[in-house]
Amino acid sequence: MSHRIIYRFRRDLRLEDHLALTRALAEGRLVPVLLLDDLTVARVRANARRTAFYCAAVAALDDALRARGANLIVRRARRAGPALVSLARSLDARAVAWSWTYDGPGLADDRNAVQALEEAGIRALISHDAPVLSPEEVDLQRHAAGEGYRAFAPFHAAWRRVALAGAASEHLLDGAFDVAGIDGEALPIPRDFGHEPAALEFAGGAPAAAHRLAAFLAYPAREYAIARRLFAGPPTAHLGPDLALGTISARRVVRELRVLAGRPYAVMEERRSYEEAERSLALRDFFLQLSWHWPRTHDKPLQEKAVALRFAEDAVGVDAWEHGTTGYPLVDAAMRELRARGWMHPKARAVAASFLCFDLGVSWRRGREIFDRYLIEDDAALATGNWQWVAGVGADMAQYPRIYNPVRQARTFDPEGRYVRQWVPELAGVPAHAIHAPLGAPPREQMELALFDAARYPHPVVDHGAAARAFLARYRAALSHT
Ligand SMILES: Cc1cc2nc3c(=O)[nH]c(=O)nc-3n(C[C@H](O)[C@H](O)[C@H](O)COP(=O)(O)OP(=O)(O)OC[C@H]3O[C@@H](n4cnc5c(N)ncnc54)[C@H](O)[C@@H]3O)c2cc1C
Repeated sequence: MSHRIIYRFRRDLRLEDHLALTRALAEGRLVPVLLLDDLTVARVRANARRTAFYCAAVAALDDALRARGANLIVRRARRAGPALVSLARSLDARAVAWSWTYDGPGLADDRNAVQALEEAGIRALISHDAPVLSPEEVDLQRHAAGEGYRAFAPFHAAWRRVALAGAASEHLLDGAFDVAGIDGEALPIPRDFGHEPAALEFAGGAPAAAHRLAAFLAYPAREYAIARRLFAGPPTAHLGPDLALGTISARRVVRELRVLAGRPYAVMEERRSYEEAERSLALRDFFLQLSWHWPRTHDKPLQEKAVALRFAEDAVGVDAWEHGTTGYPLVDAAMRELRARGWMHPKARAVAASFLCFDLGVSWRRGREIFDRYLIEDDAALATGNWQWVAGVGADMAQYPRIYNPVRQARTFDPEGRYVRQWVPELAGVPAHAIHAPLGAPPREQMELALFDAARYPHPVVDHGAAARAFLARYRAALSHT
């Protein structure tokens, strides 16, 4: 008789190309479980769109299981460890399997759950599924295995040397699940998380994610290098929320990009775009391994010396930043895009984050928390790594923080002002030469454009040049004492 194994779905809400699921299958027949524990609920409930996306992804997973004669067994519990122990006992399961999560609190929870299961004499089978390559695989490329990489360039060089696993056959899942006689609770709906159902620009769930990937590869992927740079250029992949919930496999994305890059008739610009898209997936793996090796970075900077550098938790201007009324059109467009879509252009994120940290002097933790109020993507490890990178306290080893000039960035990467016009309608009528610094235009022009009207576009909350110089002075002073 085959043994029963509980498979706990969490941030891997799909059946296809799933390493942790494949590994668990070797041990017995699987009871597919979704645990709505406090940590999961706290992440999912951050905003109504994220909740709707999550509920749709769970429902799609349940549909996929039903097509295989099973269904998702849902349980609500406070803490994962004790809940998994009691479930394993009641189902007479000999092991509980799941895939690692990578952010600090999630990792601590995983380790507690492993301990609780082992103390109860139940095996915990925990594997990597979310990254393209596991942290260990990339570590093994150098002698100091197990130490992790603090800089992206050596990580990327090692990452490219590791062979990518092929996709497992779907037939492996034939007869894989065993839910006979097991009752579950209802699937989660947005109201369980305190939200009304929200309309989504991008549908949630593995089938929708597969469509999104196909649509990206069909055309926009060949312009990815431009898409990453131009704020109102061709679309980027919009796969962040899917990769965060595991509704698509990161390995599949890389495999398909490599097929495109390897086509003999792909022109050089296209090939460069495919390679740049692959690099983005490598960057994702880099930040996941960073959090995996240094989970303390969830609330402390990676660079120990940066602890001396004090950022404020609040400042005049934070509210304006959150609401897109700083008087810097690019920053405002970015924050308004975030609030309107639950997504922000990747490069705009760096400019908006730089403004908060350097122009307003506010901590990356506060910025991460405010982004989290709106982002559908729910990946705290990526959020942390990127925020620290921008704030100059993380993996970026540049000698000085890169302080983005929001006006110069806008003039270079939104030269006609299309992005700003789309998200800041007050400026829709301002010509391209004035749109990125409207109150720097000659007074007569400002009057003609009605820019003085208080109900119109606000004055800048800070002077960027002065704020940047003041920050750099503080930075030098803080680091000279370490
Ligand atoms: C300040 C700041 C905060 C961020 N916060 C988050 C966050 O909370 N959650 C999150 O998932 N991403 C975050 N990112 C990373 C990145 O901006 C998003 O993953 C990306 O914008 C998602 O859109 P996309 O799928 O269209 O990206 P694409 O450019 O199409 O990239 C495809 C995929 O590659 C990965 N990727 C691309 N850029 C990065 C990067 N810089 N770091 C890590 N992975 C990357 C993502 O998984 C992304 O979905 C943040 C970046 C910055 C600068």
